Amino acid sequence: TRYVYRFGGGVDDGGKGDKNLLGGKGANLDGMAAIGLPVPPGFTITTEMCTRYYNDGGVYPESVKAEVAQGIAHIEQVTGKTFGNIADPLLVSVRSGARISMPGMMDTVLNLGLNDQTVEGLAQTSGDERFAWDSYRRFIQMYSDVVLELDHGAFEEALDIAKEDRGYDLDTEMTAADWKVLVAEYKAIVEKLWNKPFPQDVHDQLWGAIGAVFGSWQSDRAKVYRRLNSIPGEWGTAVNVQAMVFGNMGETSATGVAFTRDPATGENAYYGEYLINAQGEDVVAGIRTPQYLTKAARERAGAKPLSMEEAMPETYAELASVFEILEKHYRDMQDIEFTVQQGKLWMLQTRSGKRTAKAALKIAVDMAREGLISEEEAVARVDPAALDQLLHPTLDPKAPRDVLTKGLPASPGAASGAIVLDADTAEKLAEQGKAVILVRVETSPEDIHGMHAARGILTARGGMTSHAAVVARGMGRPCVSGAGSLQIDNVARTMRIDGRVLKEGDTVTIDGATGEVMAGEVATVQPELAGDFGTLMEWADKVRRLKVRANAETPLDCRTAREFGAEGVGLCRTEHMFFDAARITAVREMILAEGEAERRTALAKLLPEQRDDFAEIFTVMAGLPVTIRLLDPPLHEFLPHGEGEFEEVARAANVSVDTLKRRASELHEVNPMLGHRGCRLGVTYPEIYEMQARAIFEAALLVKENTGEAPIPEVMIPLVATAKELDLMKAIVDRVAAEVFSERGATVDYLVGTMIELPRAALKAGEIAQTGEFFSFGTNDLTQTTIGISRDDAGKFLTHYVDKGIFARDPFVSLDVDGVGELIELAAERGRKTRADIKLGICGEHGGDPASIAFCEKIGLDYVSASPYRVPIARLAAAQAAL
Ligand code: PEP
Ligand code: MG
Repeated sequence: TRYVYRFGGGVDDGGKGDKNLLGGKGANLDGMAAIGLPVPPGFTITTEMCTRYYNDGGVYPESVKAEVAQGIAHIEQVTGKTFGNIADPLLVSVRSGARISMPGMMDTVLNLGLNDQTVEGLAQTSGDERFAWDSYRRFIQMYSDVVLELDHGAFEEALDIAKEDRGYDLDTEMTAADWKVLVAEYKAIVEKLWNKPFPQDVHDQLWGAIGAVFGSWQSDRAKVYRRLNSIPGEWGTAVNVQAMVFGNMGETSATGVAFTRDPATGENAYYGEYLINAQGEDVVAGIRTPQYLTKAARERAGAKPLSMEEAMPETYAELASVFEILEKHYRDMQDIEFTVQQGKLWMLQTRSGKRTAKAALKIAVDMAREGLISEEEAVARVDPAALDQLLHPTLDPKAPRDVLTKGLPASPGAASGAIVLDADTAEKLAEQGKAVILVRVETSPEDIHGMHAARGILTARGGMTSHAAVVARGMGRPCVSGAGSLQIDNVARTMRIDGRVLKEGDTVTIDGATGEVMAGEVATVQPELAGDFGTLMEWADKVRRLKVRANAETPLDCRTAREFGAEGVGLCRTEHMFFDAARITAVREMILAEGEAERRTALAKLLPEQRDDFAEIFTVMAGLPVTIRLLDPPLHEFLPHGEGEFEEVARAANVSVDTLKRRASELHEVNPMLGHRGCRLGVTYPEIYEMQARAIFEAALLVKENTGEAPIPEVMIPLVATAKELDLMKAIVDRVAAEVFSERGATVDYLVGTMIELPRAALKAGEIAQTGEFFSFGTNDLTQTTIGISRDDAGKFLTHYVDKGIFARDPFVSLDVDGVGELIELAAERGRKTRADIKLGICGEHGGDPASIAFCEKIGLDYVSASPYRVPIARLAAAQAAL
């Protein structure tokens, strides 16, 4: 097996830009070199080597040593420099590169190949002694941090002291002689902390760095990132070794990052940042505030320092032409790293750029219109889960706001929450259900868990491509970065903005679309659903086969669902219609009733309310199917709790509090989710389902009469385990329907069906389908009962199951296709055998999860039903599943 692939200088080992083999970075370096773009020569050690390295217990096969030597020889040949040569040394960078980019997760070493002797050679050939010694001290610092894993604080402290002793403010004031002294100090620090001198052999340096990149694949922060993004541990990372180019060789040198389109808005305009006389990490780390790439962006921001377009017009023009070539070649928006060394442009990286949902949508629609991609590809390009960002409220432009300061609009969306100054606290408070805003000077990969837990992120330092910005956009968290006037005091636990002091715990609002930071909470408005969103949804609807319905039980939810494109209601949970404070007393009265007569009295109070509710829903959903599920309350959710509630119910039912309390304790269940709920309630108290059926048919006739458009009620019986239960319940529904129809002298079409949410029901689906006219898979209960894990308590331990790889994802979020999925597939098959045209849908939470929707498409269900805000996600996911 070949483990090393070379690129650049006209050499191509046939890696064919394969991301799985070369990792994302390596594949695209290979790809750029192959189409003739200026890429410094180098080689990639494959991800297969990483996997083998771990399988073999951290050793390399002999063959790979020879291949790496050939790789170095290749770079030497193209550059004319020699690795470790004293007169004209070759320096290389060593970087990681997984299949999918993991921003900030993996380590990089620059300037590798410098030692006490080659530094002199570099000074000679560059004619810049200061540059050479600055590079050497950077290398020692980075190598000690990343490869030797020594405490980097010691190095920073030494530098601070050096500057202080000399009365300097900036690193740039340090002279060649100053750096030389500091290098000696750095080496002493290494020897003290590591008990060995800093490695002088350049080959030892190289293998140390390669080992560190492979090692970083199993670092804690990489593992966290993989877990959050469902990236398998077996993928491994590649290692890229490449000739160094220098952006810090004076005023004609620069380094920058750019996007071929705006990653926040999707606007078709180059977007980027650069720094003159700087090395790559300076831009990303957010230590110096970068300058704009284009004149237009600089002017829009009212910034002074010249843009690259103005400062280096020729190189900028060359860069712009590379942008065009790359977009056409990769047919997607690119995120690029480049360096200019003494006027010569070098491309260091390109990859599909991370973008906000808004930008993803606009770029996909624009590119399809530009003819760069097809409509289907545009549909495939947008991550359905990311649409979530667009479907949620933004700040109300009319709401008053107390603006504290303005930073960069790094990731859109509005968020309010309590100020929290560190990631661990953010995570802890979020677990308790608090909305928090993580406020940091700048974020680092160690903050990932806190960023994930926070509603939004605010940083004092860093540009649009800083760690905070990139990660926040990827996660869909609103983020304001580089709010320069923000000062954080980690001891007093306060943040100070222009003389105003806010304490940790105070509420702030950030607007990631404008960069504004506001005191207190600001009101929000509903999102705009026309434009690009509407266009993409139209294209999605053209290719989708699955119908999409909504889980909704209020007229408001139904209206939202219709606006989002729902094609019916897939689940109206009637017990939720009773949560209303005004009604709950009557429901409690019904539940606690001593006998049928008392129960009927309570039910009579509920009938008109139910009928009116159904009539409203039928009106909103005119002409569309509405699945109404008869009562399915775990009883404990409705029992009175405090003294006051008992008194209230006692008064309404005209019985004593003591009687009620006795009755409540009789009803108490040890295991309510497996207790007296679902159709078991209808079996014991048929009058409840009778009342509900009556409300449904009376409402349906009313709406038919008033609007001329008859609704299509689908009456659904919950928690059925046996065919007999369904037979009994359907008989009640049919009898009441016949009664109502004859009373009113009119009819409507309706169906009676069942939920399949118990394993027995799935197994006996063939029999159940003799009575059931449709099945709706209640995958919440079906998951709970198939795996035997309580849906209410699983949160406490399921993360461990996901961490240990027992489940790839939380089975209550994404369907356990392997187990629960098999039951669904089997039930669908058996149901269809009995009743060929049986209607099949899914209405558990999984109905809004893209991976689960793909499964529903595969087994040919008729529809999925999701909560209203997830309807567009389901439409897009259903389209992608059909492609
Ligand atoms: C289900 O069990 O999947 C379902 C939709 O019903 P509920 O969540 O109301 O139990
Ligand atoms: Mg259920």
